[in-house]
Amino acid sequence: MDAIIRTTSLCKAYGAQMAVDGLDLFIKPGAAVGLLGPNGAGKSTTINMLLGLASPTTGTVSVLGMDPALEGASVRQRVGYVPERHHIYGWMTVEDVLGFTRSFYPTWNDTLCEDLVRQYALPPGKKVKQLSQGMGTKLSLILALAHEPELLILDEPTTGLDPIARDEFVEAVGHLLDRYEKTILFSSHNLGDVERIADTIAIMDEGKLLAQRPKTELIQSTKRIRVSLNKPNGKPESPDETILSELEGLEWSLTMSGWSPEKLARLQQVEDVDSVQVSDMALEDIFRDYIRGRRTA
Ligand code: ATP
Repeated sequence: MDAIIRTTSLCKAYGAQMAVDGLDLFIKPGAAVGLLGPNGAGKSTTINMLLGLASPTTGTVSVLGMDPALEGASVRQRVGYVPERHHIYGWMTVEDVLGFTRSFYPTWNDTLCEDLVRQYALPPGKKVKQLSQGMGTKLSLILALAHEPELLILDEPTTGLDPIARDEFVEAVGHLLDRYEKTILFSSHNLGDVERIADTIAIMDEGKLLAQRPKTELIQSTKRIRVSLNKPNGKPESPDETILSELEGLEWSLTMSGWSPEKLARLQQVEDVDSVQVSDMALEDIFRDYIRGRRTA
């Protein structure tokens, strides 16, 4: 199957700083990908390169079969984008903004736009600067959607929203995904939002992709393992697919992806291992351990 988004060895340097460092991303049609990463991980820089708003230092990018560095305007015509901070003219009314944006898109769907304005209860005559932050984010979402894009890219859209506005926004995106077959790339710090929307999780840190897997598979196959050792012989060698390994006294704590009963049996046979306890992990803990594991490796 062709990718909607594919990057190969993608790098973006700002001086000596590698904002994106060898990123290989493959997103297939219909996927809802949650891009997770701490501050400065390179999420926005990646999104900017996907939209042709920043050019790669090295590597390649393909979005809907196009190179955004060469065909940025065509990519942006076919992608719905909700930026981290929306830049809508505050003096315009909701109605004016919709009419203004409509003029840029031959594919604009008036019925869809009206439906969404009604559904989100946006007051058409109100000035943008008088909208609450949650309302403003919903307006951004309508602007991104009404031209019926094949791909939706949301860059931390819930940042700055209160929990109620955030819930409403996440619900709105969830409804959209149920109603229309869309591919969506959604970056966030908020694990709860990502968990509700995404079917695939991508984790980035320091410009690198640490994991990209279906959400259920990631959650089901990543385990925290507590191993009690019977002799203080230092940290045993970590098994394959260990994300994080920490030793405190005789307690060896491991986080492993790709967990299986065979791995448990193998671990139980390691010299000096007394007992092994395996527990499930929440997405938030998995994310945290990927980041800690990389930083302490
Ligand atoms: P956040 O979650 O805080 O928004 P992020 O994951 O989106 O972070 P980026 O904004 O892509 O991360 O930034 C990645 C790195 O690149 C950071 O160290 C940032 O300081 C740096 N950076 C981003 N844009 C620029 C720029 N225009 N000039 C110089 N450095 C930049």
